[in-house]
Amino acid sequence: MSIENVVLGAASKYGPEVAVEDDEGSLTFSQLSDRVHQLAVGLDKVGVSPGDRVLVLLRNSVASIEVDLALTVGGYIRVALNPRVGERDWARIEQDCAPRALIFDPRVDGATDFVSRSTAEIVIEVQGSGSARPTLDEIIADAPFGASLGTLDPASLCALHYSSGTTGVPKGAQRSHANRLASLRAMREHVLEGSLDGLEPSVFIHAGPVIHTSGLFVLPLLEAGGRQVLLDHPHPEDMIDAIEKHGGTHTALVPTVVARLLDFDDARLAPMRRLRMLAYAGAPMPVEHLRQAYHRITPNLVQYYGMVEAIPPLTVLTTADHRRGVTEDADVLHSVGKPCTGVEIEFCDGGETVADGQIGELVVSGPSVSPGYHNAETRTDLGKSHDKGLLYSGDLGFRATNGYLHLTGRSKDMIITGGYNVYPREIEEELSAIPGIKDVVVIGLPDPLWGQRIVAAYTVESTTTVDEPSALAECRRRLPDFKRPKSVHHVDDLPLTPLGKIDRVSATRLLEQLTQKATG
Ligand code: AMP
Repeated sequence: MSIENVVLGAASKYGPEVAVEDDEGSLTFSQLSDRVHQLAVGLDKVGVSPGDRVLVLLRNSVASIEVDLALTVGGYIRVALNPRVGERDWARIEQDCAPRALIFDPRVDGATDFVSRSTAEIVIEVQGSGSARPTLDEIIADAPFGASLGTLDPASLCALHYSSGTTGVPKGAQRSHANRLASLRAMREHVLEGSLDGLEPSVFIHAGPVIHTSGLFVLPLLEAGGRQVLLDHPHPEDMIDAIEKHGGTHTALVPTVVARLLDFDDARLAPMRRLRMLAYAGAPMPVEHLRQAYHRITPNLVQYYGMVEAIPPLTVLTTADHRRGVTEDADVLHSVGKPCTGVEIEFCDGGETVADGQIGELVVSGPSVSPGYHNAETRTDLGKSHDKGLLYSGDLGFRATNGYLHLTGRSKDMIITGGYNVYPREIEEELSAIPGIKDVVVIGLPDPLWGQRIVAAYTVESTTTVDEPSALAECRRRLPDFKRPKSVHHVDDLPLTPLGKIDRVSATRLLEQLTQKATG
């Protein structure tokens, strides 16, 4: 099995049907396969060699799918840049990975400036802008037709995934062909399950970036003959409209976007009820949001867990689990489900596996785990996350006696207050369950008396108000004293990362300012 086989197999099975489309056009399975093959061959002809790193700066588009697949089947190493993080981060990634080539869309904000300073020898434009640079279409047209591609070692690399950190030199996690194929198998078996086999054709709406979690669905959908519609950073209301217009049956979102959707009334959410799968991942979703999503958006919810260093899905909370969680066993909804086939997960403390129910660091091994970081041998700031095939994830959690895995938060976010270990997630859950409260972040700030003191910021649903004294009073009612925030702060918005997760570094700064203001 190879990724080239997936592309070719889809073309021979579903040839004339539409495989991918965006607001500018579409490609059938045959066209996609031909273009991917020709681009993979043509890149070699313009001087990019298999094994070279290629920076990619594209919008969520058909081009982003064909470039991703061409780089993969041609044996190049894709380094995707997030259009939303801006030139400073792109430059730091470029410096770390020293790419041979850069493929970009001049319509991405800041891209032309970045390209003018880029060190890549070969620069390719996604479509002509009047410059002398080659375009994708030209490379595809000039490539010799039918030239064969070499066989690839499954252990060879297909990508570097840089974390979106805001400080320090970004870390590029390596991803192999074997990692990607492991994800394809687990997606098909555990996340998509039977949902692609309905009587109606499957239509996947890529509302999140295909360079991150949404991209994990590209191969399974190709394999199953589904149509994939690419939206470029849509507003939630545009996403609902796109689901209606295209007859969307599947999508994957981060929890903050699901929370935005819950702001709409049931009539506005109606088109989403046709979804056969709404997957979410990337951060914990408060159980209260889960229940609302189940009742108001669709019961066909699936949660998965993973990270750039260990390709998702590592664990899955299936649609059946959600049903059971909502109707009879609420505890299941607090979990990230069970490990996928072939994924080994242990919880460890000080190098020893802890017993079921005990909190430890989640350690994972198996075919999903990245081979390591780019430039690992020259860096001293990577920590010890990889060791002999084991990945120390930095996530804390435990295995319940029923086999479901629970995450309590990142180890670096754990709060130690008055000698107690407190996990922000637990407090965030309680605050989110207060009627009217929408998003919450709980942080530990330095405190001379307590070591750290717990503080929280929250937003409210558009139709309600929850003032700070009432929120604090609710915390007193719901939480034991050592877990109660010392102060809570109502804000209009919480800071988000470019991938839509709550940005805890910026939230810490915000809470420092808010608490200073409050104390005078
Ligand atoms: P990234 O490497 O940017 O994809 O981020 C991975 C991290 O996001 C993980 O290590 C977890 O801390 C968090 N994460 C991913 N999926 C989930 C999930 N389903 N529930 C809770 N946290 C998650």
